[in-house]
Parts: sequence; structure tokens; C-alpha cells
Amino acid sequence: MFNLLRYRPMPVGAMLHHNLPHIRDMAIGEFLSYLIFGLLFFVVLAWMRHAGVFRFRIRSENRDKAGQIGREAANSARSILIFNGVQIATRIAALAFGFIMTFETPIPLWQAIISFPLVMIGHDAYFYWLHRFMHLPAVFKPVHREHHKSAAPTVFTAYSLSLGEAFLQGIYPILFVTVFPCNFWTLIFFQFVEIAHNVAIHSGLDVFPRPLVVGRRFGWLCGAVYHDMHHGVSIRHNYGLYSRFWDRLMKTEHPDFVRIYEYVHSRGNDGRAYGLLAAPAKPAPMRAERVLEPAEAG
Ligand SMILES: [Zn+2]
Ligand SMILES: [Zn+2]
Repeated sequence: MFNLLRYRPMPVGAMLHHNLPHIRDMAIGEFLSYLIFGLLFFVVLAWMRHAGVFRFRIRSENRDKAGQIGREAANSARSILIFNGVQIATRIAALAFGFIMTFETPIPLWQAIISFPLVMIGHDAYFYWLHRFMHLPAVFKPVHREHHKSAAPTVFTAYSLSLGEAFLQGIYPILFVTVFPCNFWTLIFFQFVEIAHNVAIHSGLDVFPRPLVVGRRFGWLCGAVYHDMHHGVSIRHNYGLYSRFWDRLMKTEHPDFVRIYEYVHSRGNDGRAYGLLAAPAKPAPMRAERVLEPAEAG
């Protein structure tokens, strides 16, 4: 096990003294990144609405239901507290078994380097399967329904989670640092990318570049359209967080995703991409009616 070391018995106070500065820094970083990215999207969207600009906007209607943003912001603040509460609780639990979580043991450079892609690949898989689990009928209502109350998500939907879901999402970094080698910077990087991505996919504005989303070779990324469809079109599709890999493998990707993405990114986008779903994917070719010549008609 990495980063979880056997330690001589240590009082809780000493362990907190050792770990709290890290947790405090993580919490501050988390709050600030969420706020900065959230505000960035919020201001850009407010300007676009005001100016009547639709390019890259998924929906045209004024989407925030009364009370939605207040509920989402309160839930999000609570989730960040829980993420960090889980960090403290698991460290106390580990201490009870004689372990301490520390990043003070140096790791080889190659391990530090691969820990950056690894933490994201691991989270992509963890999120997909946790998400599938949370959509099981018995689990959905108590755990994941809170997040789906926002059928038209906003930047503040990202961490609008129930207590149970915040706990399940919050334990991923702990599982990772226990199983894989990494250092403190791996976690900072993970947190920053995760928040930026999570805010972006809930924002209602799809700024994810085409070659990385729908390109033939490198089109593997989930963007805002992808996750917005999970909220607003079908909760049975598009479970992925960063990549389309697991949805494609498990055949849970929405069949109209590319069509909707192309519409949102087209110059003619009017914020009514979901209107396409009422129409068939390709209009069935009308069988040409042969007009009878008067002579034939006899
Ligand atoms: Zn969501
Ligand atoms: Zn869901």
C-alpha cells in the first residue's frame, strides 16, 4: 500500500497536526477553483443571454428554475465540506489500525509522472461504474436523485449531491492514494482538473473542441452536451465523466449524441438542439411516386 504507512501509535491530535494543513490547503483550493470556474462560466453565459448569442449554448430558454441555484449552491458547499470531512474521518479510522496517510516518503520520478494520467483514468472508471450503480432503482432515490433534480443543469449542479453521493464521490482520492503511488501534487492536479471539467460539463455551454469530442481518431472526450443529455434527455445514457470510453464499450452512449453536438457547434445553432430528437435521425427517403403518363393512365 502506498502513502499509508505503519506508524508507531500516535495520538489523534498529533495525526491531525500532521494532516490538517494538507486538508486545509486542499479545501481552500477546492473552494477557490469551484468559485473561479463557476463564476467564469456564469459571467460568459449571462453575457451571451444578454447579447442573444447562441453559439455553443445547449439550450436557449432561461433555464434556472426558481430556487434551483440556491439549492445547488447550498448542496455544493455541503459536498465540499463532506469531501474534506471524509478525508479526516478516514485518516482517524486508519490511525485506529496503526496507519498514517503521508506523502513524505519520496517516490521515483517515473511513478510521480505516471500518477497524473493514472489518477484521471482511474477516476473515469470509478465514476462510470459508481454512476451505473447509483442508477439502480433501489439506489437512485436515496443517493443520486438530488443531483438529477436539476434537469437543466447550471455550473452549481456540479457538486449538488446528496450526503450519500458526496461521501461516495469523496472517497475516490483516498482509495487512489492507498492503492497507487502518487504525491501531493498528483492530488492538487486531480482536484483542479476534476473541478474545471465538472463545472464545464454542467454549464450549458459546450466549449470542448470538436477533434477531441467527435473527431474520428481522437474523439473520446465527454463534453457539456454529453453530460447535459444525461440530465435533460435520457438518464439511461451517457454515464461517463471524462471519456466516452466506458459508454462506448458498454453500449450506453446516447445514439443521437454526435448529432446534437454537431448542432450545438454549428453556426446555425439557435439553442434548440433537443428539438432534433423529435425528428427521425435521417428523414426516411420518400419513395418517388411514379406519375402516370396520360397515355399509360389510359
Ligand atoms: Zn451531472
Ligand atoms: Zn446520473
